[in-house]
Amino acid sequence: MSSCYLCIHGHFYQPSRINPFTGETPPESDAAPYANWNERITAECYTPNAEPRPDGSGSNFERISFNLGGTLARWLDEHAHETYERIVAAERSNWKTHGVGNGLAQPVHHTILPLARHRDKICQIRWGIASFEHRFGHPVEGMWLPEMAVDYETLEVMAAEGIRFTILSGEQVRGDLGAGSGPYWAQLPNGERIAIFLRDADLSNALAFNMPDADQMEEWLQEQMDWRCRLGGLHLIATDGETFGHHHRQGVQVLSHILQGGVEHKYTLTTLGLYLRHHPPQIDVEIVENTAWSCSHRLNRWILGCDCTPGDSRWKAALRRALDNLACELDWIYVQEAQRMGADPWPLRDGYIAVELGQMDGHALLREHNLSHLNNEDAQRLLWLLKAQFHRQRMYASCTFFFADLDRHEPHYAIANGVQAMALTHYATGNDLSHTFRRDLSIVVSENTGQTGADILDQMLEQAEI
Ligand SMILES: [Zn+2]
Repeated sequence: MSSCYLCIHGHFYQPSRINPFTGETPPESDAAPYANWNERITAECYTPNAEPRPDGSGSNFERISFNLGGTLARWLDEHAHETYERIVAAERSNWKTHGVGNGLAQPVHHTILPLARHRDKICQIRWGIASFEHRFGHPVEGMWLPEMAVDYETLEVMAAEGIRFTILSGEQVRGDLGAGSGPYWAQLPNGERIAIFLRDADLSNALAFNMPDADQMEEWLQEQMDWRCRLGGLHLIATDGETFGHHHRQGVQVLSHILQGGVEHKYTLTTLGLYLRHHPPQIDVEIVENTAWSCSHRLNRWILGCDCTPGDSRWKAALRRALDNLACELDWIYVQEAQRMGADPWPLRDGYIAVELGQMDGHALLREHNLSHLNNEDAQRLLWLLKAQFHRQRMYASCTFFFADLDRHEPHYAIANGVQAMALTHYATGNDLSHTFRRDLSIVVSENTGQTGADILDQMLEQAEI
């Protein structure tokens, strides 16, 4: 067996495209001939990569390492069930064969975790692990960080929750790095440690941005892998999963070829959990905190704006302030009510994901948290407030702040989830938070359309008749 290993990790993710008031996906005309982008990307990427090969060998999903974002997993489960089932089966077959799967968990709402409060980091990581275990049916060892955004506190929470490894880029660590992808140890301030795999940026970007055509891929693979294989060790390609079939039409075929090419190219194909079992880290690295893979300006893309997007980005900080103020009010009301009813608010919220996943109903959750004494009215109030917390978490999806302008689907989605959280809180307690939210949103302005966040809010309130 070769001492050179290759792993390809695909980050499969789509932000939610639903209208949170109706639960429906509005038609997206630019995705034609499909009704929306999820359908189109499924046809181009998720389904062909999940299909078994004509020769009867496993699908691409069976041979790569991957994470499947929560919003996408839910959509596939509901709208492309066969593909969803095949992806799950591919992961489980790895777990059955090797005792470790090829799937990684992901914080459930794709939040930039270094920007989140400590208890929200815990919540997103616990919800992500619970979602993985619900879908794939076994414990998980690795976690993909949204945008690879990292700080020590996030890694500490992950390690405390039993996560053994994650993936970062070379610029996000300091230390005595070898030529390959590690893994390395990150020693954490709380005394724990977590393994860090480093993506091979040159190889990953060559594939993501300069993918060879099908007839050139043999030559490309020789060129890319020959010198790497002479070095030995692990070489990790980590990129968006949609690279394979959606961003590049030939991507499914190129991926299949690379996955089959181990014999000719003298590398052994592996997955991260499996590699870690046999190659524990030997070297420590330091983490460069508050960095991400998709923006070289620290985390500014999701706070203040940066040169990654054109135009006036001041709306990002103003929107974040509006959401933070709303979140603060929502949390205050939730904590007061939960404590009044004898609940421990944060563990109860961490457990609430079981209700969203359909594993139990709300009343069963309350019983599990020793809240059987609540009368029906209080139980209903508490469940509304928990649902409000779920919407409040959704406001912080990284996509909210990723693009150039306020007046597009992703920031609208964040505001809409704020509206849902406010409405549920209003039903539960009579508190009306809309005035302060509107005031804060009035200073959030779209450069493209001149709309303020308050205009967007008012249109939603009108449509939703809240
Ligand atoms: Zn940037």
